[in-house]
Amino acid sequence: MKYDFLIVGAGISGCTLAERIANVLNKRVCIIDFRDHIGGNCYDYKDENGIIIHKYGPHVFHTNKEEVWQYLSQFTKWHLYFHKVLAHIDNLEVPVPFNFNSIYKAFPKGLARRFENKLLEKFEYNSKIPILELRKSDDPLLKLLADYVFEKIFLNYTIKQWGLSPDEIDESVTARIPVFLSRDDGYFQDKYQAIPAEGYTAMFKKMIDHPNIELRLNTNYTDVRECIEFDRLIFTGKIEEYFDFKHGELPYRSLDFRLEQHNVEYFQSVAQKNYPNNFDFTRVTEYKHFLNAKSDKTVISKEYSMQHKIGENDPYYPILTDESLALYDTYKREGEKLEKVYFIGRLAEYKYYNMDDTFQSSLALFDKIKAEFDV
Ligand code: FAD
Ligand code: UDP
Repeated sequence: MKYDFLIVGAGISGCTLAERIANVLNKRVCIIDFRDHIGGNCYDYKDENGIIIHKYGPHVFHTNKEEVWQYLSQFTKWHLYFHKVLAHIDNLEVPVPFNFNSIYKAFPKGLARRFENKLLEKFEYNSKIPILELRKSDDPLLKLLADYVFEKIFLNYTIKQWGLSPDEIDESVTARIPVFLSRDDGYFQDKYQAIPAEGYTAMFKKMIDHPNIELRLNTNYTDVRECIEFDRLIFTGKIEEYFDFKHGELPYRSLDFRLEQHNVEYFQSVAQKNYPNNFDFTRVTEYKHFLNAKSDKTVISKEYSMQHKIGENDPYYPILTDESLALYDTYKREGEKLEKVYFIGRLAEYKYYNMDDTFQSSLALFDKIKAEFDV
């Protein structure tokens, strides 16, 4: 049978496009994934304690994108959840993003007040200042604070996470967690912050439950590209893999998630604790906080970061440097020359996308495809 679309990858990008193409365009779709499950890196499952575990690391949905929130609300009910993260520094636990509460925890009251006043003299209340920008400050007091935050929160975490210092990586990366001139301890400030009430996998299952969509798991594109007949291709894997790595490999960071079960009700007070300066792992996630699961046991994961190697581990984070972006651009230009082939998602677009960015990008591609069909 000939499909209208072959979609490679059953993550956010693949499932969103399959759903839209089947429901709106009424076309036939085959969606394949070499993993044995749908959901891509958002995949979750319920363990024997009734706790939903995010197999590929903590996933907290947050967005200001109204269209994405409305789109997903067709497929899931939500459990409202506001993510709070504590960083362990010098035997203290301070909220990150580093905010006024963090300042008062880390410094004696008098000095904390001077930092607070100086910050409010230079910047607006509620503003967010990337650490690399704050470090450029010529005010000695702000410089002192910036150096402290840089050294205690960013430097070693970033070296562990990326194998690079904050100055060596694209500044958008550390700007994700800016110094926040507020008393709000939330990790995010988006309008919508929630977790699908039955988990992410259940949401994706509902999205692709359609007679026009055929799902094939444990199926690698490389093995089937000659034997599946299709008119158009949507590729959500690595763009360089599609081109058989002809210009070389793009660099990624990978992670090892080491799960531990503990015979206590709670291991830590919040879902996520970061360890910039202690231990080899970067953060510890306790999963039961996300959906408020009840159990007398708990499950945590410790995240160890490493370089991605093909065949050994999964590519999780594009490493954004001038060099890697230039190489990606070469592949992108080559991709643009192809007809009826679309590259989409965190790997194929080589972008550090949050979930809502990925949904938005997929919905935008769908609009483009729809226009091609003149609907
Ligand atoms: P993926 O989820 O990577 O899906 C691509 C799929 O394609 C995979 O299932 C893969 O198996 C398959 N595939 C690849 N190549 C082939 C091939 N050749 N043949 C067959 N199948 C193939 N975002 C947030 O908003 N909040 C968070 O808290 C958050 N936490 C994160 C934590 C971690 C550790 C990571 C890595 C990401 C996190 N994200 C978070 C980002 C989120 O995971 C991504 O935005 C999203 O998963 C990207 O979806 P995708 O469809 O582009 O890619
Ligand atoms: N970061 C840091 N210390 C922290 C939290 C974040 O240095 O306690 C930096 C680090 O470089 C990290 C980046 O900010 O990779 C982005 O953090 P985020 O929590 O958004 O990472 P993700 O959840 O995507 O892994």
